Amino acid sequence: MKNFIDGEWKASEDGEEMEKYNPSTGELLEKMAASKKADVDEAVDAAYESFQKWLSLGSVARSKIIYRAKELIQQDRAALEAILTKENGKIRVEARQEVDGVLDQLQYYAEFARKITGDVVEGDSSRRHIYQYKIPYGVVVAITPWNFPAAMVARKLAPALLTGNTVIVKPSTDTPGSAEFIVRKFADAGMPKGVLNFITGKGSEIGDYIVMHPKVSLITMTGSTATGQRIMQKASGNMAKLILELGGKAPFMVWKDANIQNALKAFAWAKFWNSGQSCIAAERLYVHADIYDTFMKKATAMAKSIRVGDPETADMGPLINRGALEGSEKFISDAVSGGMHVLAGGKPPSLQGKFSKGYFLEPTIIEGAEQNSEIFQEEIFGPVIGVKKVTDEDELIEYANNSRYGLASYLFTEDQKLIFRASDEIRFGELYVNQIGPEASQGYHTGFRMTGQAGEGSRYGIEEYLKLKNVYIDYSGKVVVESMRDDLFSGL
Ligand code: NAP
Repeated sequence: MKNFIDGEWKASEDGEEMEKYNPSTGELLEKMAASKKADVDEAVDAAYESFQKWLSLGSVARSKIIYRAKELIQQDRAALEAILTKENGKIRVEARQEVDGVLDQLQYYAEFARKITGDVVEGDSSRRHIYQYKIPYGVVVAITPWNFPAAMVARKLAPALLTGNTVIVKPSTDTPGSAEFIVRKFADAGMPKGVLNFITGKGSEIGDYIVMHPKVSLITMTGSTATGQRIMQKASGNMAKLILELGGKAPFMVWKDANIQNALKAFAWAKFWNSGQSCIAAERLYVHADIYDTFMKKATAMAKSIRVGDPETADMGPLINRGALEGSEKFISDAVSGGMHVLAGGKPPSLQGKFSKGYFLEPTIIEGAEQNSEIFQEEIFGPVIGVKKVTDEDELIEYANNSRYGLASYLFTEDQKLIFRASDEIRFGELYVNQIGPEASQGYHTGFRMTGQAGEGSRYGIEEYLKLKNVYIDYSGKVVVESMRDDLFSGL
């Protein structure tokens, strides 16, 4: 797989490549360019040089290219679904849903052409106005994760391009294929050269260089909190604007009056969607004592009946790589050695043939954790969850808020008072009440605390890619400077 720089597909400066493995089988899947600083410079220069021309096109012409790219992706969607299943291990239905999400986002953002407005504000005296325009930042770097490798690219590319920015996409080394597919479709849709660039390379090797580049004005990154913090430090050298969508630790709350069947279905989705590798995944389960035994009996049976294996046919696929599998296994072994009890799962399934080398783990539920334990405080990012019994509302709200992360949260109850109380007091960017996610294109996906900064989606998300510029205009024909004596200028 090659880089796409200034309208050309090319190898990295020295031709070096990196390898990507299939998470379901451990087999080599593809090779990609191991980019160097020179490749970054070339991509940033191309984006920088093409900015003014792209901006001059106007949002309607820009949106037409986004619509066309959407059409091309739609026509070839089966290929993108297959890439998602191979490189990420997504089961087929989830790959299909992700492609639906890509198409939805491209449509949603393209529709914002002609809708970007500014303000005219009156000045402090007559015949004065202040024009407030929204203008793009310039060169945007989009750094994407592996868990939704196509949707995250679309969600960054479309608003950045529609608003007139030029872009360099740096996908996760674990999932370059879906990003490359989308970039190809944009290129085929008529993207002028230089406006959209794509480079692969280890974040730990080229990441600092790209985010510190003086020609980069905005960095939009979805990934872990640790990487987000590093980007923040490095980008401070140029005061680049940051959109950081980072880790999560969603509480899933089931109150005593919840519709148990609905809560159970939603819990299954919130925990085991994408093998638990989602920033909005349920990561802590709080169940009211009155229904605890009933709910947990059903949840345990449900988790045990999820079929894990070949993502083409199973209910749940693998984790993304060996490190992710080992990370989840460590949460389980630490919990067991800490005296907690495994209700379901707890180990890799025994699979035959090529899948025996994949990074699979059984859906796992652990009972007996304390609120301050690792399992309730650290992001697991796998199909593992701890459960805790709760008895009163204050305790529920306190536990839910007790996290360094603040992205998604879920509440199942029929109690209107509790719904309104939670809406006010749960300090998370998203509260899903009696429903599953994920976030909608017209919602603003944002997090509190260590989940990051700014947000994506909705007009608020689009405006993250625009800077407000102020033009002061005086048409009175007079310039009054009270702090200067008039005779300073007489006779001049
Ligand atoms: P990650 O390891 O932080 O990587 C994310 C991206 O950052 C990858 O493209 C990575 O490249 C790149 N990167 C790594 N080091 C870098 C550096 N020093 N400078 C610049 N870029 C660098 O995260 P991940 O494991 O891919 O994703 C999982 C995390 O993403 C979880 O914490 C999850 O909660 C979070 N997430 C959040 C949201 C949200 O909307 N809040 C959505 C999805 C995921 P390489 O792959 O080459 O290392």
